[in-house]
Amino acid sequence: MEKIKLGISACLLGESVRYDGGHQLDRFLTDTLGQYVEYVPVCPEVECGLPVPREAMHLEGHSDSPRLITTHSKQDVTDRMIQWALKRVVELEKEDLCGFIFKSDSPSSGMERVMVYNEKGMPVKKGIGVFARIFMEHFPLLPVEDEGRLHDPRLRENFIERIFTLKRWREVATKKKSRGKVVDFHTKHKLLILSHSLKHYQQMGRLVAQAKDLPLKEFYLQYQTLLMESLQLRATPEKNANVLQHMMGYFKKQLSADEKKELLEVIESYRKSYTPLIVPITLIQHYVRKYDQPYLKEQIYLNPHPLDLQLRNHV
Ligand code: SF4
Repeated sequence: MEKIKLGISACLLGESVRYDGGHQLDRFLTDTLGQYVEYVPVCPEVECGLPVPREAMHLEGHSDSPRLITTHSKQDVTDRMIQWALKRVVELEKEDLCGFIFKSDSPSSGMERVMVYNEKGMPVKKGIGVFARIFMEHFPLLPVEDEGRLHDPRLRENFIERIFTLKRWREVATKKKSRGKVVDFHTKHKLLILSHSLKHYQQMGRLVAQAKDLPLKEFYLQYQTLLMESLQLRATPEKNANVLQHMMGYFKKQLSADEKKELLEVIESYRKSYTPLIVPITLIQHYVRKYDQPYLKEQIYLNPHPLDLQLRNHV
């Protein structure tokens, strides 16, 4: 797979673009995830023409439509930022991004819970950065996260699973279209989708079964929308445990009573969060290999992202 293209707040890559001339280098993003990702850096404040260093700014007003104001001289730079951002998101369409990593808490780049000051100067953590809002409205189904939330192992695993899945989907969607290619993609991703949403799993199953009744373009579009919506819903230990039990059913005839008991115990231990997901997954993988189970060995759910990221060791 070629590298995944991700947009990113430029200061997270170590670019000295912050208001004080500093940066916010995040080593996980550059050194670890960076092995699989090609970043497209965006610094809204510098790209809309503000200098480095510059006066700090924050959001003021109502949290739904706050203004971007410099903290001391009280200059309003909202319109300048909006005009630039509306053009920038159109340019970014050409980049074929599979997601965006925002800088948390920034009045320009923060994707949630950014401080907004009311007329009395009281802050509430309810804002969205001016650029981040326009980006997310323009690309509503694209996976987005901020570097702060990515420290949470479950959010990190979910985000990375989504960007790898979107990349695999794009590789199908950009080639010559055929219903068979979507059916093949869907077959391999069934259990991954099920681990996020039973409802979407059922809807997508129906869509694939009725593929012949839809124009090809419409079929691709509907499938992509359901795929991205399903992955937005987080896979929980409960949902994963149900998928693992479902997989266990494929070995009904092969496993001894003792092996079944052991596998069930391992799944239960994961469900109760005593062990990480990698433990039952490894045992299932062992049986998939041993019995050469044809359906399960094709399932992306068993290997949704590179093992060396160790994402399932912590969820
Ligand atoms: S948070 Fe956003 S606007 Fe601020 S320095 Fe980083 S990239 Fe630029």
